[in-house]
Amino acid sequence: MTILVIAEHDNKAVAPATLNTVAAAAKIGGDIHVLVAGQGVGAVAEAAAKIAGVAKVLVADNGAYAHQLPENVAPLVAELGKGYSHILAAATSNGKNILPRVAAQLDVDQISEIISVESADTFKRPIYAGNAIATVQSSAAVKVITVRATGFDPVAAEGGSAAVEAVGAAHDAGKSSFVGEELAKSDRPELTAAKIVVSGGRGMQNGDNFKHLYALADKLGAAVGASRAAVDAGFVPNDMQVGQTGKIVAPQLYIAVGISGAIQHLAGMKDSKVIVAINKDEEAPIFQVADYGLVADLFEAIPELEKLV
Ligand SMILES: Cc1cc2nc3c(=O)[nH]c(=O)nc-3n(C[C@H](O)[C@H](O)[C@H](O)COP(=O)(O)OP(=O)(O)OC[C@H]3O[C@@H](n4cnc5c(N)ncnc54)[C@H](O)[C@@H]3O)c2cc1C
Repeated sequence: MTILVIAEHDNKAVAPATLNTVAAAAKIGGDIHVLVAGQGVGAVAEAAAKIAGVAKVLVADNGAYAHQLPENVAPLVAELGKGYSHILAAATSNGKNILPRVAAQLDVDQISEIISVESADTFKRPIYAGNAIATVQSSAAVKVITVRATGFDPVAAEGGSAAVEAVGAAHDAGKSSFVGEELAKSDRPELTAAKIVVSGGRGMQNGDNFKHLYALADKLGAAVGASRAAVDAGFVPNDMQVGQTGKIVAPQLYIAVGISGAIQHLAGMKDSKVIVAINKDEEAPIFQVADYGLVADLFEAIPELEKLV
């Protein structure tokens, strides 16, 4: 059994979610190969070769993969993937963009967002916004799987010494082209990788008030997230949304501020190790999942908390 893991990267560095995906592959068992598809990805390949447990790194370094357009990467993965028992990618926007296309091209069904590996063909995955866990068994010749990073502790980024092999195949489907991207620049940690997340909801009242959360987050070295209500109201950009239709996070500490705790929000954060809720309504459902609850007006509580940090 040999497993192909698609590396998540930005042409410069391996993204942390790759380490969780390799951890899932290690649970399945067998040899683990990592595919790095991109352009100018020498450093990424080098880093991938050091990941603990990786036996081989395949490097497809080509202009066609520069922006990892799924129309170009999917045929590459499908071609290489034929020889593997499993193809795994993190359930990130990128992974979720590429893998369904790979599954279609291999004519197999995809197994989405697994949170545990029961055996080489049986996996657990959340359904109904995480309110039920399905155990799925697949008889597909090649199992195409996206991995929910929060379900697997990352393997060590160092310690391995995998062989690195170049892959010549260049697939330019000619169906899409890269126009541009606007990246939100922040000195704060990335939401899904942060050890501490401070999130604000509709209770923040407006975008300007998020400055209180940014100040607290900067003292804690935390990322800032938001509920969908806060995003929909235009307080903050939608890449900050946590929840069923946003990002899934499981930090050591999650501080929910002015968030009621709708199931769709809980679906994105309830696996956090310690949950703190600040809400002026003592009946708010968020208190049912919180380890520590503070019934208070956030505009008094947050500045107080910031002073104490
Ligand atoms: C298909 C679908 C997908 C969805 N996906 C998501 C998702 O990914 N993420 C998500 O978050 N939601 C999602 N939602 C929306 C979700 O149902 C809720 O509407 C949303 O989470 C509510 O956000 P909120 O808690 O910020 O707002 P509210 O529910 O309005 O809660 C605001 C809270 O702030 C408190 N508050 C107000 N003022 C103060 C104050 N001064 N001090 C302290 N507390 C205060 C209030 O007591 C209240 O509890 C989804 C909904 C659907 C139907």
